[in-house]
Amino acid sequence: MAENTIKTKCLIIGSGPAGYTAALYTSRANLNPIVIEGNQPGGQLTITTDVENFPGYPEGTTGTGLMDDMRRQAERFGADIRSGFVTSADFSQRPFNIKTDSGLEIEAETVIISTGASAKFLDLADEKRYMGMGVSACATCDGFFYRGKRVAVVGGGDTACEEALYLSNLAKEVFLIVRKDYLRASKVMQQRVFDKPNITVLFNTNTIGLYGEEFLEGARLVEFKGTDKERVYELTIDGFFLAIGHRPNTEVLAGQITLDEQGYIVTDAPHTSTNIPGVFAAGDVADPHYRQAITAAGSGCRAALDVERFIGENPI
Ligand code: NDP
Repeated sequence: MAENTIKTKCLIIGSGPAGYTAALYTSRANLNPIVIEGNQPGGQLTITTDVENFPGYPEGTTGTGLMDDMRRQAERFGADIRSGFVTSADFSQRPFNIKTDSGLEIEAETVIISTGASAKFLDLADEKRYMGMGVSACATCDGFFYRGKRVAVVGGGDTACEEALYLSNLAKEVFLIVRKDYLRASKVMQQRVFDKPNITVLFNTNTIGLYGEEFLEGARLVEFKGTDKERVYELTIDGFFLAIGHRPNTEVLAGQITLDEQGYIVTDAPHTSTNIPGVFAAGDVADPHYRQAITAAGSGCRAALDVERFIGENPI
């Protein structure tokens, strides 16, 4: 065993609500978990501002505050939380072998993958600048702050329609920016969108820029790009919601874990076990449907309980 190799009963990859909850439960079960935080410690919540829908915070909290609380709670029971990024994982035999970018090598009896998912961005120059200041990738997280305001949602799939419908109950006016001349969403979702008097669908439209002093004030749009009908104009909005899909963070698992056609880890629901005995998955990396902090935390708890049982039944 190399000098920089450490052993653990449970390695948790990723530090969002799923990872920290799994760390809390496994540390309380005396499994001495190691958590490798990944390149976004705290996960997606750290790029939102206020969080008002996580139970236990009657006055709300911040995304970073919530994740800091979760991390400290796990640490209190002994979770060994380390910064770093997993660069390779070998799941061909137990104990599993995992390497990180800091040169650490870990021998793990079990692994919980909670690497999350990342919202896809348009890659506009100003998109990140207005993150939390008008740009969001989660209507259920941030929609409440746009009550009575004008917002736009980008995308034409079920997520975009769902976000637009959610926002239409809060905002005064919602614009759905769709690059094609049709919606990809299911018919029932499309109909709901068309039936909402305060949602306007802007077909054949692309976003080419965002503007605003400190906070977002509007988007620059182009309609019928590249045709003789091409028109560039500015749309005054307070909120710009991206809903062009999510990408589960599974690159490092390449070819070892069974994924669905969208790249999400397939688990043996309601359990969190994957196709590899001893490897479990929790949170958004295995959840294309709910994608909430509370559901991720819940599945982190389930993964920890699954690990505890697995180790009891499969000692090394
Ligand atoms: P989808 O991949 O279905 O849709 C993505 C949408 O974003 C498409 O309309 C696509 O346009 C558009 N898009 C992608 N890239 C860009 C870009 N660069 N610029 C502008 N538009 C872009 O993702 P969803 O997240 O909507 O859905 C993922 C899966 O989850 C689907 O299977 C969906 O059915 C499912 N889902 C189901 C729900 C439900 O049943 N209630 C709710 C939410 C999701 P284009 O069409 O031109 O490619």
